[in-house]
Amino acid sequence: MKNKKLGINTICTHVGETPDLQFKGAVSPMYMSSSYEFMDVDVKRYPRYFNTPNQEYLAKKIAALEHAEAAMIFGSGMAAISTVLFAFLKAGDHVVVQNDIYGGTRNLIEKHFEDYNIAFTFTKDLEISSFKACIQPNTKLIYIETPSNPLLKLVDIEAVATLAKSENIVSVIDNTFASPIVQNPVDFGIDIVLHSATKYFGGHSDICAGAVATTQEYIDTIWKTGIAFGGSLSDYTVWLLERSMKTLAIRVKAQQRNAKKLAKFLNTHSAVEKVYYPGLKSHENHELAKKQMKGYGAMLSFELKENIDAALFLKALQLIKPSMSLAGIESTMLLPSKTSHSLLTAEAREEQGIKDGLIRFSVGIESKTDLIEDIEQALKQVLHA
Ligand SMILES: *Cc1c(COP(=O)(O)O)cnc(C)c1O
Repeated sequence: MKNKKLGINTICTHVGETPDLQFKGAVSPMYMSSSYEFMDVDVKRYPRYFNTPNQEYLAKKIAALEHAEAAMIFGSGMAAISTVLFAFLKAGDHVVVQNDIYGGTRNLIEKHFEDYNIAFTFTKDLEISSFKACIQPNTKLIYIETPSNPLLKLVDIEAVATLAKSENIVSVIDNTFASPIVQNPVDFGIDIVLHSATKYFGGHSDICAGAVATTQEYIDTIWKTGIAFGGSLSDYTVWLLERSMKTLAIRVKAQQRNAKKLAKFLNTHSAVEKVYYPGLKSHENHELAKKQMKGYGAMLSFELKENIDAALFLKALQLIKPSMSLAGIESTMLLPSKTSHSLLTAEAREEQGIKDGLIRFSVGIESKTDLIEDIEQALKQVLHA
């Protein structure tokens, strides 16, 4: 069967199954060997070469989901991100980076790139003109992440890809927040797609992994850096990740349906000041969201009215967990000012539009009415406190 003709749930369920030639079992066998025959074989396999049977086959599923030729799986999202950046950036090169990106990626760039004599510029805002303004003669890579964390701002993927192509620059996107169910950047001309598979791919808050999907040619380049950096994932976890990814599309779609309803509920609630969700008409990038996303994802943020203590509200929740990380089937909320953006000064946060009371909501698959009731009861508690 050719991948292109397969529906999304068929890809999730079947593409990249590791063949069980011996027993013909219904699921992929787990090949835990770290030592393989080297004589008379086509492929010399070794875990850190990213080519054990489970790694090789699951990569096919990820490539198919991202409409890419090939993929690689890593031990974490940051392992994938750092390997890709160091595969394409050398001493003397320059990279243009979107202003609003994941804190760990920002830390890698700000704290480590100078040591390797790699120059970087963060864009002023997310407009395409701001990306253009940052390009220098030695710019080798443009890095974006859309929707952004935590305000769900969007970058025009096609515009960035077109700009990069016209300047002979490699374009890279962190597609973690959307997932390939909601957004396929390769279709808009992006070269390299990154994922923290710890999030939607894993989906059950019990796996740490990363992935990259791109052309075979770029995978060959990334592979050379990858085997030196050694960020491969244990085959046991690769196998668990495959198990999780079979339900990726049905999970993300269920989470997205809930998110849309919860965004509408919060948007009209008297205790809520503002809701950030690309699916709302009031969102500044709603039209762009319609163009480049299939649905609007399952992440949203909101601000409570100023007289309400957001931390107390989170403590009053009974069902929704005040937890770090995101994208699990269970709903979680967190305060960016106390977690992902706690290292910034209050002024720097204010500048980015991140109020101390801003709450990021990763919407899960629970029954919508239970989520709404939980929010209602928690609000009642803090309003009467
Ligand atoms: C979590 C996350 C990462 C980092 O992934 P790890 O698996 O924690 O290394 C990168 N980008 C985004 C958008 C993330 O949410």
